Amino acid sequence: MLKAEFSMRPQILFPLFTDIASLKGIGAKYEKLVVKLCGDKVADMLWHLPYSLVDRTYQPKIAAAADGRVATIKVRVVEHVPQKTKKQPYKVIVEDDSGQMIINFFKVYGDSIAKNLPVGAIRVISGKVESFNGMKQMTHPDYIARPEDAEKIAVIEPVYPLTAGITNRMAGRLAREALARVADFPEWLEPNFQKQQQFPAFREALIRAHFPKTMADIEPGSLCRSRLAYDELLANQLALAIVRQKVRKQPGRILQGDGHLRQQVLDNLGFDLTCAQKRVLEEINGDMASSFRMLRLLQGDVGSGKTVVALLTMLNAVECGAQAAIMAPTEILAKQHLETIRPLCEKIGIRAELLTGRVKGKGRKQILDDLAAGEIDIIIGTHALFVDGVTFKDLAYIVVDEQHRFGVQQRLSLSSKGNNADVLVMTATPIPRTLVLTAYGDMEYSKIDEVPAGRKPVDTRVVPLSKIQDVVAGLKRKLDEGCRAYWVCPLVEESEKTDLAAAEERFASLQKIFGRKTGMVHGRMKEAEKDAVMEQFKRGDISLLVATTVIEVGVNVPEATIMVIEQAERFGLAQLHQLRGRIKRGFQASNCILMYGYPLSETSRSRLDIMRRTEDGFEIAEKDLELRGGGEVLGNRQSGFSEFKIADMSVHKDLLYTANKDAKMIVETDKALASPRGQALRVLLYLFERDDAVRTYLVG
Ligand code: ADP
Ligand code: MG
Repeated sequence: MLKAEFSMRPQILFPLFTDIASLKGIGAKYEKLVVKLCGDKVADMLWHLPYSLVDRTYQPKIAAAADGRVATIKVRVVEHVPQKTKKQPYKVIVEDDSGQMIINFFKVYGDSIAKNLPVGAIRVISGKVESFNGMKQMTHPDYIARPEDAEKIAVIEPVYPLTAGITNRMAGRLAREALARVADFPEWLEPNFQKQQQFPAFREALIRAHFPKTMADIEPGSLCRSRLAYDELLANQLALAIVRQKVRKQPGRILQGDGHLRQQVLDNLGFDLTCAQKRVLEEINGDMASSFRMLRLLQGDVGSGKTVVALLTMLNAVECGAQAAIMAPTEILAKQHLETIRPLCEKIGIRAELLTGRVKGKGRKQILDDLAAGEIDIIIGTHALFVDGVTFKDLAYIVVDEQHRFGVQQRLSLSSKGNNADVLVMTATPIPRTLVLTAYGDMEYSKIDEVPAGRKPVDTRVVPLSKIQDVVAGLKRKLDEGCRAYWVCPLVEESEKTDLAAAEERFASLQKIFGRKTGMVHGRMKEAEKDAVMEQFKRGDISLLVATTVIEVGVNVPEATIMVIEQAERFGLAQLHQLRGRIKRGFQASNCILMYGYPLSETSRSRLDIMRRTEDGFEIAEKDLELRGGGEVLGNRQSGFSEFKIADMSVHKDLLYTANKDAKMIVETDKALASPRGQALRVLLYLFERDDAVRTYLVG
């Protein structure tokens, strides 16, 4: 009974987790627009905060009203001057004891002006004051009120981000109504911390954030917004801490091989491991040898040699007589791992096989049988490895590659599939420490921060689109010499259709120049079609591959040494880095051309410049985070890192670290969230929709 209760959203939150259309005044007409504005739940409106405010507290006499300022003035209506032609405004002359002013209306709705501003009446008007020919003017006042209603004119009015069809006044009203549904929640902050930070209560903070009193309240670092940011970060960190604690509590197993297989592979590699590879191997082996359940993140740039590390650690499990699996996000990547891993395994008499959704029929049955019988040591595949019907004899170790494409929950609960399996999560996306913390919490992590010696840098250039003729000419020379090249076009979600059309057009025009040796892949194609084209590119039947960002997922065509990226300014730096990694060949020269369209903002220029200057993925990632301007980056959304509603890592970094400590302390002292503060924290988790952590891990 108690369990069932825990699994449910606290009642106190019900009014916030209903359809946003349940707010007053949203008819069928506005529902879609409001959903577009902020989301489909009432709670979504809570996080939709104003970005500015209009101060209507300035109440001068007409003669003293300063140009360009928003003023609230009490006037008497003198005269109406209706428009003579459609182009002219309808004018209303008003006055106070200091002088006269003209109110202009370019749009006239029926007799609304006559009704609202009858001659002789006293009215309070509010709007921006301007001068024209020495005469004060106000065009379409924001407010016209009777003196007795003057108080209703918001003294300070929040300005909301809007979407076409929703007015600011409507947004303000929705916020007010949503706020009315926020109860006095039990305080979930630690009292001393709250006092020390001078944080207002949650509800108070939310009200202040929506109805700011000064411009300072709008700042992300204001007390009200910092409080809300902290709440959000605490929910994030607490959810991760709960999951982690749960995983940690599960028994692990001691995997400590004698090293005989690993030594044979090392002897066959033909190169020495880098210091960084040796170091992370030690870190991983240390975890595997402990009785804890390992959950470790391995970060390393493209080409830094993660696959070798993965193989060596998998052999550790094999040496113990167990099985190991490596899971890639796509078929192509899985096959690529097979190509690297299998030859090395064959040499030492170890069996490695591929299992993806496309392995079918007899072949599949054979693999399933052999897996169950323990005759396969290393299995390489996609998420198809973990569907029902796949059984292992003794799966002790799972490597998850490029996991940022899998969900947090999915990756953290993977370990339940194996036999107390250790899990290594591998990513080629260098992740700054703050993001590691928000995406994984305190997951241990290892970093390969060094690439094998002797690699040549990619020659990266930044050129304007206007130079496309030169680029094409250069490309032609290279292709004639037998090189292979990628031509990458952007594809953004919202404008997908136009982007796709632009990419197809580019393909058509390049095909005219390069003929049959040109191919195209894009995200709308079926997997099999994509693979077929990639295969042609690999074989060299195609030498110029026009692609939307799908190739970023990681294809390995060693002969491809050139990459042209169109509208490079629209990509995230991390993404550009991934893309460029595709042509990093190490011992061969390679060229990357970042083509940009005009106009290029200052930030975009600096970003592209970073790409030109460095190939260090970690440096690029840090810079990306620093420079990340108002959502102009295409890669953000796709990077899979939780986007916060309120918290902003360029401002609230310190709060994140505090929230991390706070969460750790909570999990240590009250892991069932049973204390009064624990109960309050449950409300917090549900409020920020981190409730799957509660449901999955606190229940049962
Ligand atoms: P990642 O998976 O990190 O992108 P890989 O493991 O695929 O990198 O390695 C990229 C290439 O570098 C492979 O051809 C691999 O054999 C080679 N390689 C890996 N480690 C080293 C090393 N220490 N010295 C030289 N070459 C290496
Ligand atoms: Mg690899």
